[in-house]
Amino acid sequence: MLADQQILRIPGPSPIPPSVQRAMSQPMIGHRGQNTSDMLRRITPKLKRIFGTSQEVAIITASGTAGLEAAVVNVVKPGDVVLVIVTGAFGDRFTAICKAYNISYQRIDVEWGKALNPDAIKSYVQEHPEIKAIFSTYCETSTGVLNPIKDLSEAVQQVSEALIVVDGVSCVGGVETKMDEWGIDVMVTGSQKALMLPAGLTFVAASARAWDVIEQNEQPRFYLDLKRYRDNLLKDTTPFTPALSLLFGLEQALNLMDEEDLDEVYKRHTLMMEMTRGAFQALEIPLLTSDADGSPTVTAVKPDDFDAEEFRKILKKEFGLSIAGGQGHLTGKIVRIGHMGYCSPADVLQIIGMVEIGLVLIGKDIVLGKGTAAAQKIYLNQGVVNK
Ligand SMILES: *Cc1c(COP(=O)(O)O)cnc(C)c1O
Repeated sequence: MLADQQILRIPGPSPIPPSVQRAMSQPMIGHRGQNTSDMLRRITPKLKRIFGTSQEVAIITASGTAGLEAAVVNVVKPGDVVLVIVTGAFGDRFTAICKAYNISYQRIDVEWGKALNPDAIKSYVQEHPEIKAIFSTYCETSTGVLNPIKDLSEAVQQVSEALIVVDGVSCVGGVETKMDEWGIDVMVTGSQKALMLPAGLTFVAASARAWDVIEQNEQPRFYLDLKRYRDNLLKDTTPFTPALSLLFGLEQALNLMDEEDLDEVYKRHTLMMEMTRGAFQALEIPLLTSDADGSPTVTAVKPDDFDAEEFRKILKKEFGLSIAGGQGHLTGKIVRIGHMGYCSPADVLQIIGMVEIGLVLIGKDIVLGKGTAAAQKIYLNQGVVNK
């Protein structure tokens, strides 16, 4: 094995394109200078397009969890009642943040590996008019589920004024996101997943309705006060020193996405999901989620006749391929393959080729090439036929 070859296919951090890497190595500039303002002016319209919003998108120097925390401290305060929809480990993180801030929450638990049911949430919210905000997860990274947040938002709005807050950290930039059109009130994402950057930036956008609440909310906050970010962005600047190197990289990553065209970016992610799922299905290895619930950015595999961790370790040892294990009660029971950001169908074919060898090495009886052929056919058809 090449000593320095590492193939990173975990659901974030994800690989960085060479041109983004080069952009990040530029010399430092003054954060209050004209060059920084010009860069922010170029970046913001592109970010808004990815969020599907005309509102400002706050750029905060921190990992994604700070974006989730910003959503909580800006939108609610102790005394408010909120609902957290937990479909996996990241839904659970919202409950932990609420707990830390003494915000009482109700929770709806969905079996890990399944998507939330918009009608069930609608009925629940109808019976609980006290709910001020609903926290949910777009792609639940711990299970590879893409929750139907558009349907959730439409269903909830028929019966409630509650704000809809969405953790889109592991998919915004890889799947279609239309905040304004769908009526999403707060959307959060992070730099190290579908946006092809290292960790270190989190992005938060809020609807006009959410801004009204944020402006009235007396919950104490300082670094994570979204108003500071918005007011400064309107003047093409940031409240604190931004992570300039990451901004250099962000601009280049956004340029790459524009060059490819956002719709093509989304199609590429869907195709990578279908190829990955199709390969495991052809090999008769169970997936954690149904086809309808699967995320275009991450696929969870749940083997029933071999050890998930042994499989993961052999791929690392043999090829330097990193895939992720399970979280929470799925630890040791699943593996998760990230196919987001700087990842293409060519990479998926490489992953499947390695996966097949890994399976043979741990003694699983498979026909070599069966998964690869399935993925190749899906590629040639540009998707699953008769879906
Ligand atoms: C990665 C991720 C986060 C943020 O995690 P950080 O480690 O703080 O960047 C939040 N939500 C989801 C769904 C994620 O996948």
